[in-house]
Amino acid sequence: MEIDSLFTLIDYPLTVEERDLIQRAYDFAKARHETQKRNSGEPYFVHVFAVAQNCARLGMDIETIVGGLLHDTLEDTDATEEEIREQFGENILFLVKGVTKLGKLKYRGQERHVESMRKFFVAMAEDLRVLIIKLADRLHNVQTLEHVRPDKRMRIAVETIAVHAALAGRLGMGKLKGMLEDYSFPYAYPKEYAQVKALFDQNMPEAQQIIQEVDGSMQKTLAEFSIKHATVDSRVKHLFSLYRKLQKYQMDIDRVYDIVALRVQVDTVADCYQVLGLVHMLWKPIPGRIKDYIALPKPNGYQSLHTTVVTEHGIVEIQIRTYTMNQEAEMGVASHFLYKENKFDKDSVPGNTSLEWLDELRELHTVVRNPSRFLEQLNHDLFKNRIFVFTPKGDVIDLPEDASPVDFSYAIHSRIGESTSSARVNGKMVPLGAKLRNGDIVEIITSKKAKPSSKWLDYAKTTLARRKIRAYVAEHGGLLQKFLAKE
Ligand code: MN
Repeated sequence: MEIDSLFTLIDYPLTVEERDLIQRAYDFAKARHETQKRNSGEPYFVHVFAVAQNCARLGMDIETIVGGLLHDTLEDTDATEEEIREQFGENILFLVKGVTKLGKLKYRGQERHVESMRKFFVAMAEDLRVLIIKLADRLHNVQTLEHVRPDKRMRIAVETIAVHAALAGRLGMGKLKGMLEDYSFPYAYPKEYAQVKALFDQNMPEAQQIIQEVDGSMQKTLAEFSIKHATVDSRVKHLFSLYRKLQKYQMDIDRVYDIVALRVQVDTVADCYQVLGLVHMLWKPIPGRIKDYIALPKPNGYQSLHTTVVTEHGIVEIQIRTYTMNQEAEMGVASHFLYKENKFDKDSVPGNTSLEWLDELRELHTVVRNPSRFLEQLNHDLFKNRIFVFTPKGDVIDLPEDASPVDFSYAIHSRIGESTSSARVNGKMVPLGAKLRNGDIVEIITSKKAKPSSKWLDYAKTTLARRKIRAYVAEHGGLLQKFLAKE
Protein backbone atom coordinates (compact mmCIF):
# COMPACT_ATOMS: atom_id res chain seq x y z
CA MET A 1 0.00 0.00 0.00
CA GLU A 2 2.83 2.32 -0.73
CA ILE A 3 1.57 5.53 -2.25
CA ASP A 4 3.88 4.97 -5.22
CA SER A 5 1.71 2.08 -6.35
CA LEU A 6 -1.02 4.68 -6.81
CA PHE A 7 1.19 7.20 -8.58
CA THR A 8 2.35 4.60 -11.10
CA LEU A 9 -1.27 4.00 -12.16
CA ILE A 10 -1.72 7.64 -13.15
CA ASP A 11 -0.53 7.95 -16.70
CA TYR A 12 -0.63 11.70 -17.12
CA PRO A 13 1.94 14.14 -15.71
CA LEU A 14 1.34 15.49 -12.19
CA THR A 15 2.31 18.91 -10.88
CA VAL A 16 3.99 19.26 -7.49
CA GLU A 17 0.72 20.58 -6.02
CA GLU A 18 -1.24 17.61 -7.38
CA ARG A 19 1.21 15.11 -5.93
CA ASP A 20 1.00 16.93 -2.65
CA LEU A 21 -2.81 16.89 -2.72
CA ILE A 22 -2.85 13.12 -3.23
CA GLN A 23 -0.24 12.66 -0.51
CA ARG A 24 -2.30 14.72 1.95
CA ALA A 25 -5.47 12.78 1.16
CA TYR A 26 -3.55 9.54 1.59
CA ASP A 27 -2.27 10.61 5.02
CA PHE A 28 -5.67 11.97 6.06
CA ALA A 29 -7.56 8.79 5.11
CA LYS A 30 -4.93 6.58 6.69
CA ALA A 31 -5.07 8.49 9.98
CA ARG A 32 -8.87 8.68 10.11
CA HIS A 33 -9.47 5.02 9.33
CA GLU A 34 -6.59 4.03 11.62
CA THR A 35 -8.58 2.00 14.15
CA GLN A 36 -11.01 0.39 11.67
CA LYS A 37 -10.79 -3.07 10.20
CA ARG A 38 -12.57 -4.72 7.30
CA ASN A 39 -14.32 -8.10 7.49
CA SER A 40 -11.12 -9.67 6.21
CA GLY A 41 -9.27 -8.36 9.26
CA GLU A 42 -7.18 -6.01 7.13
CA PRO A 43 -6.97 -2.30 8.00
CA TYR A 44 -9.92 -0.38 6.50
CA PHE A 45 -7.48 1.88 4.68
CA VAL A 46 -6.71 -1.01 2.32
CA HIS A 47 -10.22 -0.56 0.93
CA VAL A 48 -10.14 3.18 0.30
CA PHE A 49 -6.68 2.87 -1.21
CA ALA A 50 -7.93 0.15 -3.58
CA VAL A 51 -10.85 2.37 -4.60
CA ALA A 52 -8.45 5.23 -5.40
CA GLN A 53 -6.36 2.77 -7.43
CA ASN A 54 -9.46 1.65 -9.34
CA CYS A 55 -10.25 5.29 -10.13
CA ALA A 56 -6.70 5.78 -11.41
CA ARG A 57 -6.97 2.60 -13.53
CA LEU A 58 -10.13 4.00 -15.07
CA GLY A 59 -8.07 7.02 -16.10
CA MET A 60 -9.87 9.48 -13.86
CA ASP A 61 -8.64 12.96 -12.92
CA ILE A 62 -6.89 13.94 -9.65
CA GLU A 63 -10.02 15.11 -7.85
CA THR A 64 -11.74 11.80 -8.45
CA ILE A 65 -8.71 9.85 -7.20
CA VAL A 66 -8.60 12.02 -4.07
CA GLY A 67 -12.37 11.54 -3.75
CA GLY A 68 -11.72 7.80 -3.85
CA LEU A 69 -9.24 8.04 -0.97
CA LEU A 70 -11.67 10.10 1.09
CA HIS A 71 -14.93 8.46 0.02
CA ASP A 72 -15.70 6.79 3.36
CA THR A 73 -14.32 9.44 5.72
CA LEU A 74 -17.58 11.34 6.20
CA GLU A 75 -19.65 8.26 6.78
CA ASP A 76 -17.30 6.06 8.77
CA THR A 77 -14.91 8.35 10.64
CA ASP A 78 -15.10 11.48 12.78
CA ALA A 79 -14.00 13.68 9.85
CA THR A 80 -16.33 16.63 9.28
CA GLU A 81 -17.44 18.46 6.14
CA GLU A 82 -15.62 21.57 7.34
CA GLU A 83 -12.33 19.72 7.64
CA ILE A 84 -12.60 18.29 4.15
CA ARG A 85 -13.60 21.64 2.68
CA GLU A 86 -10.71 23.38 4.44
CA GLN A 87 -8.06 20.85 3.52
CA PHE A 88 -9.21 19.65 0.10
CA GLY A 89 -11.60 22.24 -1.25
CA GLU A 90 -15.23 22.52 -2.27
CA ASN A 91 -15.07 20.21 -5.31
CA ILE A 92 -13.67 17.26 -3.43
CA LEU A 93 -16.11 17.79 -0.58
CA PHE A 94 -18.91 17.69 -3.18
CA LEU A 95 -17.69 14.35 -4.51
CA VAL A 96 -17.32 12.79 -1.05
CA LYS A 97 -20.77 14.01 -0.03
CA GLY A 98 -22.21 12.69 -3.27
CA VAL A 99 -20.80 9.22 -2.66
CA THR A 100 -21.97 9.29 0.95
CA LYS A 101 -25.49 10.25 -0.14
CA LEU A 102 -25.62 7.43 -2.64
CA GLY A 103 -24.67 5.33 0.36
CA LYS A 104 -26.44 2.41 1.76
CA LEU A 105 -28.99 1.13 -0.67
CA LYS A 106 -30.34 -2.33 -0.16
CA TYR A 107 -31.55 -4.30 -3.13
CA ARG A 108 -35.03 -5.66 -2.56
CA GLY A 109 -36.35 -6.67 -5.94
CA GLN A 110 -37.82 -4.58 -8.70
CA GLU A 111 -39.10 -1.69 -6.62
CA ARG A 112 -35.75 -1.13 -5.01
CA HIS A 113 -34.09 -1.55 -8.36
CA VAL A 114 -36.00 1.44 -9.66
CA GLU A 115 -34.99 3.36 -6.57
CA SER A 116 -31.30 2.53 -6.97
CA MET A 117 -31.25 3.42 -10.63
CA ARG A 118 -33.08 6.63 -9.87
CA LYS A 119 -30.57 7.70 -7.25
CA PHE A 120 -27.71 6.87 -9.56
CA PHE A 121 -29.03 8.92 -12.42
CA VAL A 122 -29.77 11.86 -10.21
CA ALA A 123 -26.26 11.72 -8.77
CA MET A 124 -24.85 11.38 -12.24
CA ALA A 125 -26.72 14.44 -13.41
CA GLU A 126 -24.97 16.37 -10.66
CA ASP A 127 -21.48 15.06 -11.29
CA LEU A 128 -20.54 12.00 -13.28
CA ARG A 129 -17.49 11.48 -11.09
CA VAL A 130 -19.60 10.64 -8.05
CA LEU A 131 -20.94 7.69 -9.96
CA ILE A 132 -17.51 6.56 -11.09
CA ILE A 133 -16.16 6.60 -7.50
CA LYS A 134 -19.20 4.60 -6.44
CA LEU A 135 -18.57 2.03 -9.17
CA ALA A 136 -14.87 1.83 -8.22
CA ASP A 137 -15.97 1.33 -4.60
CA ARG A 138 -18.39 -1.42 -5.56
CA LEU A 139 -15.76 -3.13 -7.66
CA HIS A 140 -13.45 -3.47 -4.67
CA ASN A 141 -16.35 -4.66 -2.51
CA VAL A 142 -17.18 -7.48 -4.91
CA GLN A 143 -13.51 -8.32 -5.29
CA THR A 144 -13.44 -9.03 -1.56
CA LEU A 145 -16.82 -10.76 -1.20
CA GLU A 146 -15.37 -13.95 0.22
CA HIS A 147 -15.05 -12.23 3.59
CA VAL A 148 -18.71 -11.21 3.75
CA ARG A 149 -21.50 -13.18 5.46
CA PRO A 150 -23.10 -15.60 2.94
CA ASP A 151 -26.67 -14.18 2.99
CA LYS A 152 -25.40 -10.63 2.73
CA ARG A 153 -22.95 -11.51 0.05
CA MET A 154 -25.57 -12.94 -2.29
CA ARG A 155 -27.64 -9.79 -1.99
CA ILE A 156 -24.63 -7.60 -2.79
CA ALA A 157 -23.68 -9.78 -5.76
CA VAL A 158 -27.20 -9.80 -7.24
CA GLU A 159 -27.51 -6.08 -6.77
CA THR A 160 -24.14 -5.45 -8.40
CA ILE A 161 -25.16 -7.32 -11.54
CA ALA A 162 -28.60 -5.69 -11.69
CA VAL A 163 -27.61 -2.12 -10.92
CA HIS A 164 -23.90 -1.35 -11.03
CA ALA A 165 -22.87 -3.53 -13.97
CA ALA A 166 -25.94 -2.46 -15.92
CA LEU A 167 -25.05 1.15 -15.37
CA ALA A 168 -21.41 0.65 -16.34
CA GLY A 169 -22.73 -0.96 -19.53
CA ARG A 170 -24.99 1.98 -20.18
CA LEU A 171 -21.99 4.27 -19.91
CA GLY A 172 -20.10 2.08 -22.35
CA MET A 173 -17.55 0.98 -19.71
CA GLY A 174 -17.32 -2.60 -20.97
CA LYS A 175 -14.25 -3.59 -18.98
CA LEU A 176 -15.67 -2.41 -15.67
CA LYS A 177 -19.01 -4.03 -16.46
CA GLY A 178 -17.33 -7.36 -17.17
CA MET A 179 -15.32 -7.19 -13.94
CA LEU A 180 -18.32 -6.28 -11.79
CA GLU A 181 -20.28 -9.17 -13.28
CA ASP A 182 -17.57 -11.78 -13.10
CA TYR A 183 -16.65 -11.09 -9.47
CA SER A 184 -20.35 -11.20 -8.51
CA PHE A 185 -21.43 -14.18 -10.61
CA PRO A 186 -20.29 -17.04 -8.29
CA TYR A 187 -22.04 -15.49 -5.29
CA ALA A 188 -25.16 -14.27 -7.07
CA TYR A 189 -25.97 -17.49 -8.97
CA PRO A 190 -23.73 -20.27 -7.58
CA LYS A 191 -25.39 -23.20 -9.42
CA GLU A 192 -25.37 -21.49 -12.78
CA TYR A 193 -21.83 -20.32 -12.21
CA ALA A 194 -20.61 -23.87 -11.54
CA GLN A 195 -22.32 -25.09 -14.70
CA VAL A 196 -20.94 -22.34 -16.92
CA LYS A 197 -17.47 -22.61 -15.41
CA ALA A 198 -17.37 -26.37 -16.11
CA LEU A 199 -18.47 -25.85 -19.73
CA PHE A 200 -15.91 -23.10 -20.11
CA ASP A 201 -13.06 -25.21 -18.72
CA GLN A 202 -13.96 -28.12 -20.97
CA ASN A 203 -14.10 -26.06 -24.14
CA MET A 204 -11.46 -23.45 -23.53
CA PRO A 205 -8.32 -25.45 -24.47
CA GLU A 206 -9.66 -26.38 -27.91
CA ALA A 207 -10.96 -22.86 -28.56
CA GLN A 208 -7.59 -21.44 -27.60
CA GLN A 209 -5.84 -23.90 -29.89
CA ILE A 210 -8.00 -22.91 -32.86
CA ILE A 211 -7.42 -19.23 -32.19
CA GLN A 212 -3.67 -19.69 -32.11
CA GLU A 213 -3.64 -21.31 -35.52
CA VAL A 214 -6.01 -18.77 -37.05
CA ASP A 215 -3.93 -16.00 -35.49
CA GLY A 216 -0.90 -17.25 -37.44
CA SER A 217 -2.70 -17.17 -40.82
CA MET A 218 -4.16 -13.77 -39.98
CA GLN A 219 -0.76 -12.22 -39.16
CA LYS A 220 0.67 -13.56 -42.40
CA THR A 221 -2.17 -12.17 -44.49
CA LEU A 222 -2.01 -8.74 -42.85
CA ALA A 223 1.70 -8.56 -43.61
CA GLU A 224 1.22 -9.78 -47.17
CA PHE A 225 -1.34 -7.06 -47.91
CA SER A 226 0.74 -4.53 -45.94
CA ILE A 227 -1.91 -3.42 -43.46
CA LYS A 228 0.06 -1.05 -41.24
CA HIS A 229 0.08 -0.94 -37.43
CA ALA A 230 -2.26 -3.89 -37.06
CA THR A 231 -2.38 -5.77 -33.77
CA VAL A 232 -3.91 -9.22 -33.51
CA ASP A 233 -4.75 -10.70 -30.14
CA SER A 234 -7.44 -12.81 -28.60
CA ARG A 235 -10.08 -11.97 -26.08
CA VAL A 236 -11.62 -14.54 -23.77
CA LYS A 237 -15.31 -14.11 -23.16
CA HIS A 238 -16.34 -12.97 -19.68
CA LEU A 239 -18.01 -15.82 -17.83
CA PHE A 240 -21.18 -13.93 -17.08
CA SER A 241 -21.62 -12.84 -20.68
CA LEU A 242 -21.02 -16.46 -21.72
CA TYR A 243 -23.81 -17.41 -19.31
CA ARG A 244 -26.15 -14.88 -20.87
CA LYS A 245 -25.37 -16.23 -24.32
CA LEU A 246 -25.80 -19.85 -23.22
CA GLN A 247 -29.24 -19.01 -21.89
CA LYS A 248 -30.23 -17.91 -25.39
CA TYR A 249 -29.03 -21.25 -26.81
CA GLN A 250 -30.53 -23.60 -24.19
CA MET A 251 -27.06 -24.04 -22.62
CA ASP A 252 -25.73 -25.63 -25.82
CA ILE A 253 -22.09 -24.50 -25.90
CA ASP A 254 -21.52 -25.88 -29.39
CA ARG A 255 -23.55 -22.97 -30.68
CA VAL A 256 -21.26 -20.42 -29.02
CA TYR A 257 -18.35 -19.54 -31.30
CA ASP A 258 -16.80 -16.75 -29.34
CA ILE A 259 -15.56 -18.27 -26.09
CA VAL A 260 -12.32 -16.97 -27.44
CA ALA A 261 -12.47 -14.46 -30.30
CA LEU A 262 -9.71 -13.07 -32.45
CA ARG A 263 -9.41 -9.30 -32.22
CA VAL A 264 -7.75 -7.22 -34.90
CA GLN A 265 -6.99 -3.59 -34.17
CA VAL A 266 -5.99 -1.12 -36.85
CA ASP A 267 -5.56 2.64 -37.27
CA THR A 268 -8.51 3.69 -39.40
CA VAL A 269 -12.08 2.78 -40.30
CA ALA A 270 -10.98 2.19 -43.89
CA ASP A 271 -8.45 -0.37 -42.60
CA CYS A 272 -11.24 -2.13 -40.68
CA TYR A 273 -13.25 -2.77 -43.82
CA GLN A 274 -10.16 -3.82 -45.73
CA VAL A 275 -9.31 -6.37 -43.04
CA LEU A 276 -12.89 -7.65 -43.12
CA GLY A 277 -12.51 -8.13 -46.88
CA LEU A 278 -9.28 -10.08 -46.39
CA VAL A 279 -10.88 -12.28 -43.74
CA HIS A 280 -13.77 -13.13 -46.05
CA MET A 281 -11.35 -13.79 -48.86
CA LEU A 282 -9.50 -16.30 -46.68
CA TRP A 283 -12.48 -17.98 -45.04
CA LYS A 284 -16.22 -18.28 -45.67
CA PRO A 285 -18.35 -16.23 -43.29
CA ILE A 286 -21.42 -17.77 -41.65
CA PRO A 287 -24.48 -15.94 -43.04
CA GLY A 288 -26.33 -13.78 -40.53
CA ARG A 289 -23.29 -13.40 -38.31
CA ILE A 290 -21.64 -10.47 -40.04
CA LYS A 291 -22.29 -7.43 -37.85
CA ASP A 292 -21.33 -3.91 -38.84
CA TYR A 293 -21.40 -2.00 -35.57
CA ILE A 294 -19.23 0.68 -37.12
CA ALA A 295 -21.89 1.93 -39.51
CA LEU A 296 -24.60 0.98 -37.00
CA PRO A 297 -23.20 1.29 -33.46
CA LYS A 298 -24.91 -0.35 -30.49
CA PRO A 299 -27.04 1.96 -28.34
CA ASN A 300 -24.24 2.45 -25.81
CA GLY A 301 -21.90 3.57 -28.59
CA TYR A 302 -20.04 0.27 -29.09
CA GLN A 303 -18.34 0.10 -32.49
CA SER A 304 -16.66 -2.87 -34.16
CA LEU A 305 -17.01 -5.26 -37.09
CA HIS A 306 -17.84 -8.86 -36.13
CA THR A 307 -17.81 -11.85 -38.37
CA THR A 308 -17.83 -15.58 -37.73
CA VAL A 309 -15.88 -17.64 -40.26
CA VAL A 310 -15.27 -21.29 -41.00
CA THR A 311 -11.53 -21.94 -41.05
CA GLU A 312 -9.60 -25.13 -41.68
CA HIS A 313 -8.99 -25.24 -37.91
CA GLY A 314 -12.54 -24.58 -36.76
CA ILE A 315 -15.21 -21.88 -36.48
CA VAL A 316 -13.96 -18.54 -35.14
CA GLU A 317 -15.40 -15.12 -34.40
CA ILE A 318 -13.22 -12.26 -35.56
CA GLN A 319 -13.67 -8.70 -34.29
CA ILE A 320 -12.16 -5.81 -36.18
CA ARG A 321 -11.95 -2.26 -34.86
CA THR A 322 -9.72 0.80 -34.59
CA TYR A 323 -7.55 1.36 -31.52
CA THR A 324 -9.81 4.22 -30.53
CA MET A 325 -12.93 2.07 -30.76
CA ASN A 326 -11.27 -0.54 -28.58
CA GLN A 327 -10.37 2.04 -25.98
CA GLU A 328 -13.94 3.33 -26.01
CA ALA A 329 -15.45 -0.13 -25.78
CA GLU A 330 -13.41 -0.90 -22.70
CA MET A 331 -13.43 2.44 -20.93
CA GLY A 332 -16.59 4.14 -22.24
CA VAL A 333 -17.21 7.50 -20.66
CA ALA A 334 -13.92 7.22 -18.79
CA SER A 335 -11.98 6.88 -22.04
CA HIS A 336 -12.42 10.59 -22.52
CA PHE A 337 -9.99 11.23 -19.72
CA LEU A 338 -7.38 9.13 -21.45
CA TYR A 339 -7.01 10.56 -24.89
CA LYS A 340 -3.48 11.12 -25.99
CA GLU A 341 -2.89 13.83 -28.52
CA ASN A 342 -1.61 11.54 -31.28
CA LYS A 343 -3.97 8.66 -30.72
CA PHE A 344 -7.13 10.39 -31.78
CA ASP A 345 -8.78 8.72 -34.73
CA LYS A 346 -10.14 11.26 -37.15
CA ASP A 347 -11.85 8.61 -39.23
CA SER A 348 -13.95 7.36 -36.37
CA VAL A 349 -17.58 7.63 -37.36
CA PRO A 350 -19.94 9.04 -34.75
CA GLY A 351 -22.75 6.64 -33.92
CA ASN A 352 -26.40 6.76 -32.93
CA THR A 353 -27.54 6.19 -29.42
CA SER A 354 -30.80 6.17 -27.60
CA LEU A 355 -29.43 8.55 -25.00
CA GLU A 356 -28.81 11.81 -26.78
CA TRP A 357 -26.21 12.93 -24.31
CA LEU A 358 -23.94 10.00 -25.09
CA ASP A 359 -23.85 11.20 -28.65
CA GLU A 360 -22.95 14.66 -27.53
CA LEU A 361 -20.36 13.14 -25.26
CA ARG A 362 -18.65 11.47 -28.19
CA GLU A 363 -18.47 14.75 -30.02
CA LEU A 364 -17.25 16.61 -27.00
CA HIS A 365 -14.03 14.65 -26.76
CA THR A 366 -13.00 15.83 -30.18
CA VAL A 367 -13.11 19.40 -28.93
CA VAL A 368 -11.85 19.13 -25.39
CA ARG A 369 -8.83 16.99 -24.64
CA ASN A 370 -7.80 18.26 -21.23
CA PRO A 371 -9.39 16.04 -18.54
CA SER A 372 -10.50 18.72 -16.11
CA ARG A 373 -11.79 21.01 -18.86
CA PHE A 374 -13.59 18.06 -20.32
CA LEU A 375 -15.33 17.36 -17.02
CA GLU A 376 -16.41 20.94 -16.68
CA GLN A 377 -17.87 20.92 -20.18
CA LEU A 378 -19.44 17.55 -19.64
CA ASN A 379 -21.27 18.53 -16.50
CA HIS A 380 -22.27 21.82 -17.94
CA ASP A 381 -23.36 20.98 -21.47
CA LEU A 382 -24.82 17.58 -20.98
CA PHE A 383 -26.35 17.50 -17.58
CA LYS A 384 -27.22 21.11 -16.79
CA ASN A 385 -30.18 21.23 -19.09
CA ARG A 386 -31.26 17.62 -18.99
CA ILE A 387 -33.32 15.68 -16.52
CA PHE A 388 -33.70 11.95 -16.04
CA VAL A 389 -37.19 10.73 -15.22
CA PHE A 390 -38.47 7.21 -14.80
CA THR A 391 -41.29 4.98 -15.89
CA PRO A 392 -42.89 3.01 -13.04
CA LYS A 393 -40.82 0.04 -14.23
CA GLY A 394 -37.56 1.93 -13.87
CA ASP A 395 -36.76 2.75 -17.49
CA VAL A 396 -34.92 6.01 -17.80
CA ILE A 397 -36.26 8.75 -20.02
CA ASP A 398 -33.90 11.58 -20.83
CA LEU A 399 -35.68 14.94 -21.30
CA PRO A 400 -34.82 18.65 -21.44
CA GLU A 401 -35.33 20.75 -18.32
CA ASP A 402 -38.92 21.94 -17.81
CA ALA A 403 -40.33 19.07 -19.86
CA SER A 404 -43.90 18.01 -19.03
CA PRO A 405 -45.83 14.73 -18.80
CA VAL A 406 -46.83 15.32 -22.44
CA ASP A 407 -43.14 15.22 -23.49
CA PHE A 408 -42.69 12.13 -21.37
CA SER A 409 -45.58 10.21 -22.94
CA TYR A 410 -44.49 11.04 -26.48
CA ALA A 411 -40.95 10.01 -25.59
CA ILE A 412 -42.28 6.57 -24.72
CA HIS A 413 -44.41 6.09 -27.81
CA SER A 414 -46.49 8.36 -30.02
CA ARG A 415 -49.55 6.13 -29.50
CA ILE A 416 -49.22 6.65 -25.77
CA GLY A 417 -48.73 10.36 -26.39
CA GLU A 418 -51.93 10.57 -28.40
CA SER A 419 -54.08 8.79 -25.84
CA THR A 420 -52.75 10.56 -22.75
CA SER A 421 -55.56 11.59 -20.46
CA SER A 422 -53.77 12.36 -17.21
CA ALA A 423 -50.50 11.84 -15.36
CA ARG A 424 -49.24 10.90 -11.94
CA VAL A 425 -45.85 12.05 -10.71
CA ASN A 426 -44.40 10.22 -7.70
CA GLY A 427 -47.89 8.87 -7.03
CA LYS A 428 -49.73 12.21 -7.20
CA MET A 429 -52.02 13.43 -9.99
CA VAL A 430 -50.55 16.45 -11.79
CA PRO A 431 -51.72 18.67 -14.69
CA LEU A 432 -50.43 17.63 -18.12
CA GLY A 433 -48.44 20.87 -18.30
CA ALA A 434 -46.64 20.32 -14.97
CA LYS A 435 -42.85 20.68 -14.94
CA LEU A 436 -41.03 17.41 -14.37
CA ARG A 437 -38.00 17.31 -12.13
CA ASN A 438 -34.90 15.16 -12.08
CA GLY A 439 -35.65 11.74 -10.59
CA ASP A 440 -39.46 11.92 -10.89
CA ILE A 441 -41.32 8.67 -11.46
CA VAL A 442 -43.98 9.41 -14.06
CA GLU A 443 -47.03 7.31 -14.79
CA ILE A 444 -49.21 8.14 -17.79
CA ILE A 445 -52.88 7.26 -17.70
CA THR A 446 -54.27 6.69 -21.17
CA SER A 447 -57.83 6.58 -22.41
CA LYS A 448 -59.42 5.81 -25.77
CA LYS A 449 -61.35 9.06 -25.58
CA ALA A 450 -58.31 11.26 -25.03
CA LYS A 451 -56.85 13.13 -27.97
CA PRO A 452 -54.17 15.77 -28.49
CA SER A 453 -55.26 19.39 -28.71
CA SER A 454 -53.39 22.49 -29.77
CA LYS A 455 -53.34 23.44 -26.10
CA TRP A 456 -50.77 20.69 -25.64
CA LEU A 457 -48.31 22.73 -27.69
CA ASP A 458 -48.06 25.00 -24.65
CA TYR A 459 -46.98 22.03 -22.56
CA ALA A 460 -44.54 20.31 -24.89
CA LYS A 461 -40.83 21.24 -24.84
CA THR A 462 -39.40 18.50 -27.04
CA THR A 463 -39.34 18.76 -30.81
CA LEU A 464 -40.66 15.23 -31.04
CA ALA A 465 -43.82 15.89 -29.04
CA ARG A 466 -44.48 19.24 -30.70
CA ARG A 467 -44.13 17.77 -34.17
CA LYS A 468 -46.48 14.88 -33.39
CA ILE A 469 -49.07 17.13 -31.77
CA ARG A 470 -49.05 19.51 -34.73
CA ALA A 471 -49.38 16.68 -37.18
CA TYR A 472 -52.29 15.19 -35.24
CA VAL A 473 -54.10 18.48 -34.91
CA ALA A 474 -53.59 19.30 -38.58
CA GLU A 475 -55.03 15.96 -39.59
CA HIS A 476 -57.93 15.70 -37.17
CA GLY A 477 -58.78 19.23 -36.13
CA GLY A 478 -61.27 21.77 -37.50
CA LEU A 479 -60.33 24.84 -39.48
CA LEU A 480 -59.45 26.92 -36.45
CA GLN A 481 -57.29 24.11 -35.10
CA LYS A 482 -55.53 23.82 -38.44
CA PHE A 483 -54.84 27.50 -38.45
CA LEU A 484 -53.44 27.38 -34.93
CA ALA A 485 -51.31 24.39 -35.70
CA LYS A 486 -49.40 26.35 -38.32
CA GLU A 487 -47.59 28.71 -35.91
MN1 MN B 1 -16.31 2.21 0.40
